[in-house]
Amino acid sequence: MKNIFIKEILKDGQIGQEVKVRGWVRTKRVSKAFAFININDGTTIHNIQAVVDFESIPEEQLKDVNTGACVCISGILVASEGSGQAVEVKAQAVEVYGKADPEKYPLQPKRHSLEFLREIAHLRPRTQTFSAILRIRHALAFAIHKYFNDRGFYYLHTPIITGSDAEGAGEMFRVTTLDMNHPPKNEDGSINYKEDFFGKETNLTVSGQLEGELGAMALSKVYTFGPTFRAENSNTSRHLAEFWMIEPEVAFFELEDNMDLAEDFLQYLVAYAIEHCNDDLKFLDQRNAEEEKQKPQQERSELGLLERLNFVVNNSFVRLTYTDAVEILKNAKKKFQFPVDWGTDLQSEHERYLVEKHFRKPVILTNYPTEIKAFYMKQDEDGKTVRAMDVLFPGIGEIIGGSQREDDYDKLKQRAHAVGIEEESIWWYLETRKFGACPHAGFGLGFERLVLFVTGMSNIRDVIPFPRTPKSAEF
Ligand code: ATP
Ligand code: MN
Repeated sequence: MKNIFIKEILKDGQIGQEVKVRGWVRTKRVSKAFAFININDGTTIHNIQAVVDFESIPEEQLKDVNTGACVCISGILVASEGSGQAVEVKAQAVEVYGKADPEKYPLQPKRHSLEFLREIAHLRPRTQTFSAILRIRHALAFAIHKYFNDRGFYYLHTPIITGSDAEGAGEMFRVTTLDMNHPPKNEDGSINYKEDFFGKETNLTVSGQLEGELGAMALSKVYTFGPTFRAENSNTSRHLAEFWMIEPEVAFFELEDNMDLAEDFLQYLVAYAIEHCNDDLKFLDQRNAEEEKQKPQQERSELGLLERLNFVVNNSFVRLTYTDAVEILKNAKKKFQFPVDWGTDLQSEHERYLVEKHFRKPVILTNYPTEIKAFYMKQDEDGKTVRAMDVLFPGIGEIIGGSQREDDYDKLKQRAHAVGIEEESIWWYLETRKFGACPHAGFGLGFERLVLFVTGMSNIRDVIPFPRTPKSAEF
């Protein structure tokens, strides 16, 4: 018999068919004459139930069939008399691949807290919640490649080890093979990185954008989708030290085109999940509704998870300038923890106020003050703002950050200089503005922030299989 997984059995299995069900035991319930074993193999949120008749298989044979054990149950597919499932397996033979001591197995068939599950990240994919999240994560990753491929974008692999610290000064993880206890020194006592592996200081990348731009100025439409690393010591529910980022970069795009792309892209991805992850989203929708009930009235979100997803797909995003947003925030009745003034960066509380209270829609903020944005953003004519755009989502805050890029060599060089970036470290980036420069734009979507939104989870540590955060790199 060929390998067949539970998803296929539930979808295509015929009554009377011989099947071999393999997976991990979720629950076992024993009555006088029968045992009911629920098995899941992670291919679907649904379990399959095996019914063991003690007349044909003695109860003794089930002593190691406990929650968490891996089993293989052979039998016949029959129509189920119980509610909740169409078919079940009438067991003919039970084999235990791997036992799980019921006294020690940490995942019992009850609700565990998400905090506890983070401590057992090696086992949490076996829960309904995490397996649902991981399947959705996969679907979204696939949809991202599909979206771009269908539209003629090329997937560009940008380096993970980088020699430029253009973007993330102070927030980067160093990559070195030097002996930390006896590093080679220069005469002035500083470390001599010329002796390091690459002959210079290197770090893990914070973004593939600069190289993405080089790609766009050759292939026109490119995107990257890779891991990025930030050593920012922010222990929030929306930051990871290692996360995945999607960065399209398009030649001849201006800010408007960039906004159109971001909006269409996000709507496509959410719609894709609604269409392809129906079972998992239904489960998470219910889970979300139960969580909401625990919250005080005023903190509850008005829409359920699926309603929120549909809302994003069916409503266009509001677009306004940073300057207009600051006016709205200044006139808001709500007292913010951080004051708002033109020129300061917006905090998450401000972003969420605009999205959740004022507009009640996703918002794209544009034309931020030059001083609070990266050096590569195109300067506006007024000399005060740049062509930046942040997409803000309910419950998340910033989900996308992007801009039209400065394509004028002198202006770009002057801004790099103003923020203390040495020309030698990005000479290659500057050269693209000397040789065939063109208007272009792009953005970065944080993959985990997208998965957070789609799954309705509230902590980013719960939407990546093995989170990396300050003081935490187990597993
Ligand atoms: P934030 O203001 O939320 O810290 P940022 O302005 O530093 O984000 P960008 O540099 O614009 O973020 O990065 C692009 C996108 O990457 C963000 O819009 C967000 O979705 C995501 N992102 C940024 N930092 C993190 C992080 N530490 N963990 C997870 N995702 C992140
Ligand atoms: Mn940003």
